[in-house]
Amino acid sequence: MNGIVAILRDVLGAEQVLDARAAEGRVSSYWDPSPLQARALVRPRSTAEVSKVLRVCHEHGQKIVTHGGLTGCVEGATSDADTVVLSLERMQAIEDIDTVGRTATVQAGVVLQRLQDAVREHGLIFPVDLGARGSCTIGGNVATNAGGINVIRYGMMRARVLGLEAVLADGTVLSSMNRMLKNNAGYDLKQLFIGSEGTLGVVTRVVVRLDEATRSRNSAMVGLASFDHVTGLLRHLQQSLGGNLSAFEVMWGDYFRDVTGAGFHRAPLAREHAYYVMLEVEGANVEIDTPQFMAVMEQALDRGLVADAVIPQSETERRALWEIRENFQPLYRRQPIFLYDVSLPIREMEAYVAEVQARLRKRWPESRCDVIGHIGDGNLHFFVTPGCEGEHQHAQSDEDVYAPLKPIGGSVSAEHGIGTEKRPHLGISRSAEEIALMRTLKCTLDPKNLLNPGKVL
Ligand code: ZN
Repeated sequence: MNGIVAILRDVLGAEQVLDARAAEGRVSSYWDPSPLQARALVRPRSTAEVSKVLRVCHEHGQKIVTHGGLTGCVEGATSDADTVVLSLERMQAIEDIDTVGRTATVQAGVVLQRLQDAVREHGLIFPVDLGARGSCTIGGNVATNAGGINVIRYGMMRARVLGLEAVLADGTVLSSMNRMLKNNAGYDLKQLFIGSEGTLGVVTRVVVRLDEATRSRNSAMVGLASFDHVTGLLRHLQQSLGGNLSAFEVMWGDYFRDVTGAGFHRAPLAREHAYYVMLEVEGANVEIDTPQFMAVMEQALDRGLVADAVIPQSETERRALWEIRENFQPLYRRQPIFLYDVSLPIREMEAYVAEVQARLRKRWPESRCDVIGHIGDGNLHFFVTPGCEGEHQHAQSDEDVYAPLKPIGGSVSAEHGIGTEKRPHLGISRSAEEIALMRTLKCTLDPKNLLNPGKVL
């Protein structure tokens, strides 16, 4: 079957096709430094070339895994020695920025941060933002329906995609490059590919929706006495600040204490509060927004919603506050550590976290469970460490985190996707009927099961 390398070289040109040996010179992913396993790695430069690759692979029953920035967290782009890896690294053109319609048209291999920087020159923003911004690609963001830290205001990737072009398993090019906010002409086919993790088609070009750049930014980190105070503060900010609240990141007290202290982040507030929130508000007018923000924070203190607050006085101080939320390296001194990304209604969060922690403590009395969340999005992240030796600890921890989600209608993945890591747990969040329809769609679009096989379903 090594004939496929020769055929692909014939179709694309030798320089665009690396063989297994050359592919081994690359790492498997951002998280896994082992050599990449592949029969070949192809680097097409256009949708037409992607179509040629898929047509050839379809004819020969050759399975394909598409690569973007390889920063995903759920083993959604893993390959083996029988796989053709399709890398979109040569499709990096920003084709158009429309400042009137506020759209950008880009190829799938464009790195997120490059698009963010390019549109900022026009006074616009592309507001999907996440820690992996310097490596992840727009195509990967679409394929995984990326979330991140601005979802509360701007939505997930799904809310930012107006149109896209995808290549189907048999090489058919499906171009749905809509640029309008409104388009109700039939089924919204682009949604099939957004969040499908490369299993239904290969996204090659995207039209994304941009927003005006904000001109003012006010931030604070606050300490709070209870979860009711956290939700009370969220409501207060949403009522008082119109749509200007752009981040509301909650840290449970144990998380804050575990990442601050000797040798780690400096604690800007007393370390005994039950909860901490990093919040950010962005608007269009510094003269109006900053006094308004101060007044709203004052009210929060007067009403007893907030026990203590720190407002950064410089960009350096602001960055230092964000580091507490974004740089959780101190937690990784504990090994093993299991990371979770679940979602559930905000009203259920306090009891759910308490139940998960109680289950874990019962199983492992020395266990640690730190929690942070984009709670406005219903999204929590857990860091679980058993604190003792044992076998099958990851599976046992999964059980303790996922089982209590079912009765409250929660999801085993808020923003990371399913990949292979969460595939055994899909049934907790989706019904048998839903999964059956997913299988029907997969069979219809990819009858030979060649696109990212074994992922999601
Ligand atoms: Zn997150």
